[in-house]
Amino acid sequence: MPEFNPFKIAQAQLDAAAVRLGLDPATHELLRWPQIEFKFTLPVEMDDGKIRIFHGYRVQYNSARGPTKGGLRWHPEATFDTIRALAAWMTWKTAVVDIPLGGGKGGVTCNPKEMSEREKQRLARAYMRAVARIVSVSKDVPAPDVYTTPQIMAWMMDEYEVLVGEHHPGVITGKPIPLGGSEGRGDATARGGVYALREAGRVLGIDLKDKTMAIQGFGNAGQFAALLAHEIMGLKLAAASDSRGGIYNPKGLDPRQVVDYKLKKGSLQGYPGAEAVTNEQLLELDVTVLFPSALENVITESNAPKIKCRISCELANGPTTPEADEILYANNVFVIPDFLANAGGVTVSYFEQVQNTYNFYWPLDEVHRRLDEKMTRAFHGVYQMYQREKVNMRQAAYLVSVARVAEACKLRGWV
Ligand code: GLU
Repeated sequence: MPEFNPFKIAQAQLDAAAVRLGLDPATHELLRWPQIEFKFTLPVEMDDGKIRIFHGYRVQYNSARGPTKGGLRWHPEATFDTIRALAAWMTWKTAVVDIPLGGGKGGVTCNPKEMSEREKQRLARAYMRAVARIVSVSKDVPAPDVYTTPQIMAWMMDEYEVLVGEHHPGVITGKPIPLGGSEGRGDATARGGVYALREAGRVLGIDLKDKTMAIQGFGNAGQFAALLAHEIMGLKLAAASDSRGGIYNPKGLDPRQVVDYKLKKGSLQGYPGAEAVTNEQLLELDVTVLFPSALENVITESNAPKIKCRISCELANGPTTPEADEILYANNVFVIPDFLANAGGVTVSYFEQVQNTYNFYWPLDEVHRRLDEKMTRAFHGVYQMYQREKVNMRQAAYLVSVARVAEACKLRGWV
């Protein structure tokens, strides 16, 4: 299997859009690279008294449309290039939903599943000490991503406020609600995806009520997708999987019970009344909607011909390779691409920043209404481009976003 490098993929996706948009060479080259990137070592005392050195990253990909914004991934396989790719995708994500922010991403190579709460707190504080000079509400605002939580955001915010000696809740988003978090941030990624899915159902003329869904990845996004797609669209949960494997019952599983089981047992294994499936098998199930909701590179040229869903709603970042995209397009699988489908998270993060700045907080229904408005408008903007340009939905989303970022770079006189 060829070596998988998500940043090379992100650059190739951009290249295709640049050609179609006729971008001048300078703008194209500027958008192929992060504007600023940081790499640092983080010495952290572990519970056994030994010091461990962690490797941390923060990439500020493009700030033409506003301060850079994006989550922090704590994962054993996080590399500099993964973070670069994720930062590029954040740039296109904030542009596709048209919020006044740029794109960034950070992370630490570590396995939080093997760390105590105290170790995680020390790592969170060490990370914030390392990036305190380069983040702020007007420079770069981190948030949660894979394996980081509201509690981790709270520790980081506290460390920042200790360093600057003032309150600055807007320096980080995805905080717990008592510390300036927004109502509705917890399920925002999945909720935004479900709003986009609803619009896809409308334009494709598919009534999604009682149709089946399979969810690959059962973390924050996957769990809320199971609950909300059922609640809002009436979809039936046929299958779900996490890193240890999955469960399947074509007659339908109770999403609330599956989520409670996962939260209680830590995995889906042994869930009663369902047969065991692997992650690979789950992706190929005959369902109406597939939610890839875990990590990159799960739908590739080798399994794309076997994908049977009608709609793939990508809550994960980068789940599908460019070769697989072409196969899915040819096979009439409608893809709601990652940086559109999962933009609900950063959209509510933006709402959180706005509320922090005003120090005035919105009720949940207002967050939902504004999120719906943003996602619906973004979906139709991309869908119009898809119809007009006769390209796949991901390329259409790139055309919308890259044009917006390129315009901002030009207006600033950078290129
Ligand atoms: N990590 C999330 C994403 O990939 C959220 C980023 C944010 O809220 O800033 O979109």
